[in-house]
Amino acid sequence: MMPRASSRVAFVGAGPGQADLITVRGALRLQDADVVLFDSLADPALRALARNARWIDVGKRGFAGVPHAPRGGRENTGQDTINALLVKHAQSGVNVVRLKGGDPSVFGRLEEELEALAAAGIECEVVPGVTAALAAAAATQRPLTRRGAGRSVALTTAMTKSGALTAGRHADTESFYMAGKQLAALSRRLVEAGWAADTPALVVSRAGWPDQIASEHTVATLGDATVLHSGRPTIVTVGVGAAAIGAAAEARVDAGRAAPAAVTGTAPAAEASGVPAEAGTSTP
Ligand code: SAH
Repeated sequence: MMPRASSRVAFVGAGPGQADLITVRGALRLQDADVVLFDSLADPALRALARNARWIDVGKRGFAGVPHAPRGGRENTGQDTINALLVKHAQSGVNVVRLKGGDPSVFGRLEEELEALAAAGIECEVVPGVTAALAAAAATQRPLTRRGAGRSVALTTAMTKSGALTAGRHADTESFYMAGKQLAALSRRLVEAGWAADTPALVVSRAGWPDQIASEHTVATLGDATVLHSGRPTIVTVGVGAAAIGAAAEARVDAGRAAPAAVTGTAPAAEASGVPAEAGTSTP
């Protein structure tokens, strides 16, 4: 076994999908854990790695007894409770794993939890994970960077703290998190931000899971993806890295052993299936 850092708290990225996308180091930390505080996105099959640990569900959606109502204009009652739980268990002297979907450093509220531990004088380590944008690229075999044309990648959320939607243009390839419920609005914001209407846009939901779905669109027709991906964690990749890499590569995707997401639904196909073009803001 790898030597354990002296800290008793490890933030572990679970990866975005099935349990085997966790890193070896993350799996080792789980094996050593007495308490695991986990999010709703982590694969329940990971429990097999820490059968004797106490697993505590702190997923924002399913966290029983935690009010979600804004307090003082900020939706952080659940976060405060998670911070307190982390500190409490760490102070009790047991090994704690804080298991987060994807990578802890990407839209994972890691900052707040690190601050809470630091304030309590508790050391910790962070074990990285595969973030959803990377799983989406892998699922569709569309590299995020392209020699010459795709020199930068941005991981972006279109959602602001107040719930408004904004979009800019920060990189050759831009991956949007947490925008799945507002694809039509995102489409409009992207055009306003200067993306050409025919820029490739790729939508992948449940990337890394056996039921992952991918569909290809343009910035202008992104709203067509709404129904197909409704209710599923969704990544939207826009720009150079969203484009297919050619017929030969697509043939390899079809023959792929790991059942890659078949990229379905170009914009016209989505229209043919009756997906309304402007339905992006109303899904659950
Ligand atoms: N820390 C996570 C992101 C958490 S924010 C990571 O690194 O991946 C939650 C958002 O991540 C979701 O709204 C969605 O946009 C994205 N996401 C998480 N898992 C996903 C998956 N399997 N497929 C597609 N998008 C996913």
